Amino acid sequence: MSTGCLFCNIVAKTTPAQIVFEDDHVLAFRDLRPVAPTHALVIPRKHITGVHDATAEDVEMLGRVMLAARDVAEKLGLAGSGYRLVVNQGANAGQSVLHLHCHVLGGRPMGWPPG
Ligand code: AMP
Repeated sequence: MSTGCLFCNIVAKTTPAQIVFEDDHVLAFRDLRPVAPTHALVIPRKHITGVHDATAEDVEMLGRVMLAARDVAEKLGLAGSGYRLVVNQGANAGQSVLHLHCHVLGGRPMGWPPG
């Protein structure tokens, strides 16, 4: 828990969110400003600012985030059509919330390279 962290507050349920999945390690909720017909975020309950701050101790947590993202995509009906998982790191990637999160995006075709 990091004081003042928006996503820690969602984990603590002091800030509301539309939760779509949770277990002992991760939480998933709808993005407040979706950029695709389906847009959810998967976060670890543990506070870590981003993937660049992960250490070997975080290997299991990182795997759990990825598998939860897969499960969320399945639950939200994206498995057949496909989906994109995105982890933004730092300013150039546009990371705006400093608590590691994996975007689950789907419901429309997506271009490559990303903007
Ligand atoms: P990023 O730009 O990769 O750091 O992604 C942060 C995401 O968090 C953005 O897509 C925001 O729309 C989303 N977001 C910010 N505040 C909230 C909130 N209170 N509930 C749900 N999603 C949020």
